[in-house]
Amino acid sequence: MENIARPRGTMDVMAPDVFMWNHIEKTVRAVAERYGFSEIKTPTFEEIGLFKRGVGEATDIVQKEMYSFTDKDGTMFALRPEGTASVVRAIIENGKATDTLPLKFFYLINCFRYEKPEAGRSREFVQFGTEMFGAPSAAADFTVISLADAVLRELGLKNVRLHINSIGCPECRPVYRAELVKYLNAHSDQLCDTCLERMNTNPMRVLDCKNESCRKVAEGAPRTIDHLCAGCREHLDDLRSALDACGVPYVTDPHIVRGLDYYTKTVFEFISEGIGSQSTVCGGGRYDGLMEELGGPKMAGIGFGMGITRVILAMKQEGIEAPKLGVPELYIATMGRAAVTEGLKIATELRSCGINAETDVVGRSLKAQMKYADKTGARYVLMLGDTEMEAGRAQLKEMATSGQTELELGEIVGYIKERYGR
Ligand code: ATP
Ligand code: MG
Repeated sequence: MENIARPRGTMDVMAPDVFMWNHIEKTVRAVAERYGFSEIKTPTFEEIGLFKRGVGEATDIVQKEMYSFTDKDGTMFALRPEGTASVVRAIIENGKATDTLPLKFFYLINCFRYEKPEAGRSREFVQFGTEMFGAPSAAADFTVISLADAVLRELGLKNVRLHINSIGCPECRPVYRAELVKYLNAHSDQLCDTCLERMNTNPMRVLDCKNESCRKVAEGAPRTIDHLCAGCREHLDDLRSALDACGVPYVTDPHIVRGLDYYTKTVFEFISEGIGSQSTVCGGGRYDGLMEELGGPKMAGIGFGMGITRVILAMKQEGIEAPKLGVPELYIATMGRAAVTEGLKIATELRSCGINAETDVVGRSLKAQMKYADKTGARYVLMLGDTEMEAGRAQLKEMATSGQTELELGEIVGYIKERYGR
């Protein structure tokens, strides 16, 4: 029979990569908690209108990348392409908007986008995201950026650089936008078809285009940072002062943009120097208009999304390894029915104390069991055969030193627990 392959752009994760995943997820949760963010879980699919409004009709995500389907009752749903829209919906729907501010949420979710798969770009991917609502100050921007920075540092990444920019607000944006459109019109012969359309619907998206020729046009384009109103300028200055004061290195990069109307002021990316074209490990910004756009109260918001596969690529590139999990503290080699039962008993007792212990379940020869124990990296090995069962005593071997200790069967659990510090 023909084998069925997994869908294009999805992945199977298993050891040793899964150690990396677990290590990252653990780090992310620990850091987010330290910053006072609480985890939020929302549905994998939502009414499609939520993403149309929340992500924006003019974006590639909505126009080309959504996995949508019609339910049996005719409702149009989409698998979430990102997390922010759902969090905003959940805040409004659960009456959280009137809670004490700021609201601080994080999530670790799978997202779906119909894209051309390549390294660091898949159709189902996992994102770590944070959202802070009800905090309009630059101190909030700093806090969210600092959280992302802390995660990346704690994972040991050194070649990931923070790029920040400001894209202004509804007050200063119109003047900028008019100037940008004028410039783009003058260079329209060098723009791709998509950008020619974007020029009228969402001109700032042109600055985001990955097309080579559009990038050249973008490089010479007027910069938001030169058109900021006094308020936006002060906000950016305050953010920079906080980053300087707290020792978070960054570069100001006028080419970082988020081309959505409700994005305001701060935008940022963490970019890895060595992982090729999919180098943005984390992207975020301020969206003070989003809550209102989705029917909630007027409430400032800021957050980011961090792609876990890209973090892994960056870690591998820097030679960072995750701690290996699942290494047995004790392997019990058994021979004979009574020994098998005794082995299970010792393993179960240790496991119930939180200690990893393993014993043979395959029926291997003693020699093969010793080889297996060595392969797992077990710290101690216990040999149990008929002789040991009759004597009620057995040899415990410490693998690193080959040192042997003779113990009564009843003493083994206590001995290992003591060594393990339990
Ligand atoms: P890109 O410009 O790389 O397409 P984006 O602007 O579409 O990124 P966001 O929507 O801001 O990305 O998502 C935040 C983060 O999620 C990205 O910085 C990236 O790390 C990750 N990400 C986005 N799309 C994918 C994907 N298809 N596969 C893997 N990770 C992704
Ligand atoms: Mg994208």
